[in-house]
Amino acid sequence: MHCPFCNADDSKVIDSRLVRDGCEVRRRRQCSVCNERFTTFEVAELIMPNVIKSNKVREPFNDEKLRNGMKRALEKRPVSSDAIEDAVMRIKSKLRATGEREVPTKLIGDFVIEELKNLDKVAYIRFASVYFSFDDIEQFSKEIAKLQ
Ligand SMILES: [Zn+2]
Repeated sequence: MHCPFCNADDSKVIDSRLVRDGCEVRRRRQCSVCNERFTTFEVAELIMPNVIKSNKVREPFNDEKLRNGMKRALEKRPVSSDAIEDAVMRIKSKLRATGEREVPTKLIGDFVIEELKNLDKVAYIRFASVYFSFDDIEQFSKEIAKLQ
């Protein structure tokens, strides 16, 4: 980042440490032009992006919708609530990590698919058959073959 003293665009990190229980990184920097030192703090962006639905309507991200969608696919499957919750958390952090203000529902669907693939093959097939709306048996069996 630019030096706040001389506006030079090159500074080097001379010290870096975790603060606030590791939720924040404090960096001591030194300007390579004027040698002044300054501190920066880095925190994770905790704002969830909005969701762009296929009809272009925007809505706030909704935890419950994501969780319920996954639970529906996982109904009567031997997967613990903890495992589902971990998957929800991973999906949310991936969404934040995109750094986007808005994400299409398709991206969320892709992340859900990935998680279900690891959690439970049956749930994966249930979700994928709706999600990809397989219109022929051949496409469906290709997807199943990929799992084996
Ligand atoms: Zn400077």
